[in-house]
Amino acid sequence: MKLIVKWIISIIIVYTGLLWLVGFLRRKMKKGKVTILCYHRVIEDKQIKDYYRPAVAVSVSAFERQMGVLQERYKIISLDDAVCLLQKRKSLENDYMVVTFDDGYADNYENAFLVLKKYNLPATIFLSTDYIDSNKMLWTDEVGMLLKEKWDVFLQTELLKTLKGAGVSGDKITVINKILSTLKEMDEDIRETIIARLKKDIGNLMVANNQMLTWEQIKEMNANKISFGAHTKSHRFLTTLMLSEKESEIKESRDIVEQNLNKQVLCFAYPDGRFDEECRNIVRESGLQGACSTITGDNISGCDLFALKRRDIGEDACIPPFGRFSKALFLTEISGIYDMFRRR
Ligand SMILES: [Zn+2]
Repeated sequence: MKLIVKWIISIIIVYTGLLWLVGFLRRKMKKGKVTILCYHRVIEDKQIKDYYRPAVAVSVSAFERQMGVLQERYKIISLDDAVCLLQKRKSLENDYMVVTFDDGYADNYENAFLVLKKYNLPATIFLSTDYIDSNKMLWTDEVGMLLKEKWDVFLQTELLKTLKGAGVSGDKITVINKILSTLKEMDEDIRETIIARLKKDIGNLMVANNQMLTWEQIKEMNANKISFGAHTKSHRFLTTLMLSEKESEIKESRDIVEQNLNKQVLCFAYPDGRFDEECRNIVRESGLQGACSTITGDNISGCDLFALKRRDIGEDACIPPFGRFSKALFLTEISGIYDMFRRR
């Protein structure tokens, strides 16, 4: 749905009290829900405009306003508590919000943690353990950054001509994101060949910055209301792996987080939300209590704890086409009111 239409609808339903009324009646009928927000990166305000993956980033100021709204309007609980609550399979008399982050970016510590501490909010960060305390980058970041940095060189390549021939068009950020989503759907070995070819054609990244968290940062956050879940070791898409690889990715990543924090890990998140029955069974049988997907929606009593639904939050969840932070837009975005219009 167009952002401007969403914005107008949000103003109407929030300021007429309609959104509040619907929630009130639902809770009266004991049909409360757990909404799990899914964040990735929280970046500096000045970087957000031309960030290469806008769908997975929010600016620090937007994040701060979002957390302020959550604290004012909702009961915010940790994911572990939410899973315990849902496990009881009793109808919920309240609505709950949960804040999660995928992958383990350093900005979760540098930017998000300060805000979470300010509002005294719990959150859960899912770690892909191979990347922690390393300068390794997820391939999506490497390709995204490389294309952005070397855009002028990329414009001269045969690959771009092929893409244009296949109908890929739009501005720089749109094209980069179309390339990333196309690469995601490819077999891993074909994708790696294409990425290697791309690097050969346009060169390597000038700066390999340390984007991911360190264990030291993780331990500090762990002592301050932030909990951690596992998100595999390598961040490879689980559905493309053999059973033994799925097992080692799921169980060993959980074990590594547990060993480093000296604490039981209860939750897991499937990379890119991709899972199948095998993954689900491994997660359940390994003693984990819940697993997050990226299926859009809320979780109610009796839901599948190993395919928990979430709501992706990007900058456009709260910034209208012209203007600053819109509380109405954010409240309707997280309320699920647009789910009926969403294409699956
Ligand atoms: Zn991820």
